[in-house]
Amino acid sequence: NAEAPIARPAARDDIPEAFYRFHLHPGYLQLRIINEGAKKMGIASPFFKQHDGIAGAISQIDGQPYINFASYNYLDLNQHPAVHQAAKDAIDQYGVSVSASRVVSGERPIHRELERAIADAYGVDDAVTFVSGHATNVSTIGHLFGPKDLVLHDELIHNSALQGILLSGAKRLPFAHNNYAALDEILSTQRRQFERVLIVVEGIYSMDGDFPDLPQLIEIKNRHRALLMVDEAHSFGVMGPTGMGIREHFGVAGQDVDIWMGTLSKTLSACGGYIAGESALIEHLKFLAPGFLYSVGMPAPVAAAALAALNCMQQENQRVQTLQARGQYFLAQAKQRGIDTGHSAGLAIIPAIVGSSLKAARLSAALFAQGMNVQPILYPAVPEKAARLRFFISCEHSEQQIDATLDALQAALRA
Ligand code: PMP
Repeated sequence: NAEAPIARPAARDDIPEAFYRFHLHPGYLQLRIINEGAKKMGIASPFFKQHDGIAGAISQIDGQPYINFASYNYLDLNQHPAVHQAAKDAIDQYGVSVSASRVVSGERPIHRELERAIADAYGVDDAVTFVSGHATNVSTIGHLFGPKDLVLHDELIHNSALQGILLSGAKRLPFAHNNYAALDEILSTQRRQFERVLIVVEGIYSMDGDFPDLPQLIEIKNRHRALLMVDEAHSFGVMGPTGMGIREHFGVAGQDVDIWMGTLSKTLSACGGYIAGESALIEHLKFLAPGFLYSVGMPAPVAAAALAALNCMQQENQRVQTLQARGQYFLAQAKQRGIDTGHSAGLAIIPAIVGSSLKAARLSAALFAQGMNVQPILYPAVPEKAARLRFFISCEHSEQQIDATLDALQAALRA
């Protein structure tokens, strides 16, 4: 009989609801407690603010202009006409998407032009780009290392590197921030128990704005026959007389570091990440790293924008020099006002450490009310007592904008 209802067994009742309903997920419950607590205390959410246009040193949010210290647009190339034009031309030539993994039919000349330029910037054989900076670290570390290997990383390393290490199944050991005696000690006692050993550091640390002693790391990794990876997300375009990064700052050779990693989303005002190094490394990743192989190729306008930004940075060196000068100015002025900037070197990233998440969120809201946009960094992104405001400096920030912001911060701290 076609009309008869199909008999279905009743859903089982021995599985707690929390295991199959998203609104009962413990992570979500914790998020709601935090958000509702902030609302009760009258703190406006500092997250997901909508910027109406290009986020430069000034950015319009909900129709109002703000002095903006919350974007990575270090050399202000995100509004450079040549960068915009390159992206538009690439759309006309290649379309918006490359519609396949590069290994299949997604390869376009612009990919190799960008990678050649990145490799030349480091003075190494070759480079490969991924569609996300985060995915670059996850896929590269996750693919190259395995359970017989050890990954040693600075305790302040970015989440993307941590995720890559977890994926790899390698043993993971953090060492105290910039503490090379601790690193040397681990290598002296444990090196022989592992096959490959990778050391991961950042060119400029994304929360603190300080940088490692690269020559010392190179000496240690050479002595222990380990591999060194440097994440230049925040140092490329920022350090060194011509912005070529921590390599140029210390005057070391590109070959002295085994894996150079960087993002296209900061100085290069696009989106994606890169690995630069010797041919065998790049070829290996291009044929076997899952985040490259099984992912669509970078959209041509994005690759073209990054390449144009790299050219602009090299042709308009005053941007790098102004950024460095403004960073030093910000740091000196902040210190003069008694603001705790931690170990920041006064390059592109300067924190104002305020000691509690609540205080950081309140200060961010107080500055926002006065026309300044700066993001609070709250626990668990940093330890609770290290909660802070984090200022990203751009070459377009004027000394007057910096003074006005620091005066407002000082007054809000006193209040
Ligand atoms: N590495 C570091 C040090 C970062 O700070 C970030 C993101 N801010 C990434 C990697 C990931 O880069 P992206 O945002 O371009 O994916």
